[in-house]
Amino acid sequence: MSYTLTQDYGVRWSDNASQLHTGLDLAAPKGAAVYAVKSGQITKQGSLGYSKVSGENWGNYIVINNDDGTASGYLHVEPTKSFVNNRVNAGDQIAVVYKNHLHLNYCPSVTGCQHGAFPNDTFPTSSYKATTTDLARFYYRPKIG
Ligand SMILES: [Zn+2]
Repeated sequence: MSYTLTQDYGVRWSDNASQLHTGLDLAAPKGAAVYAVKSGQITKQGSLGYSKVSGENWGNYIVINNDDGTASGYLHVEPTKSFVNNRVNAGDQIAVVYKNHLHLNYCPSVTGCQHGAFPNDTFPTSSYKATTTDLARFYYRPKIG
């Protein structure tokens, strides 16, 4: 399967140039199925709030603590059910795309992924900006395709 990458890992955000992008944006239509990339336990899901730039609703996110010790964050989705503390297997559907893409974070531990886009608990109201140091500590570039 191939994907159209609309925003790469580590680049500056298109709508917030002071923020480094913590994952990959994969183009997909609203309602497209989102599948778990690895087996693990869902640790968190919630709302991403609204863009302070455009005011658009960013949808929800899901964080999975993968069995191999890594973690995955799925952003701009609509979960298909309430999953927190549930186990999922790789390939299980966990959500649908909220608007026009999936943002996929991949983290060496759940620390970086646990709050969706950011390694702290103040999103979306903080002025926190992911730095190159944060990317090196909290994120991997997901491998796709
Ligand atoms: Zn993104």
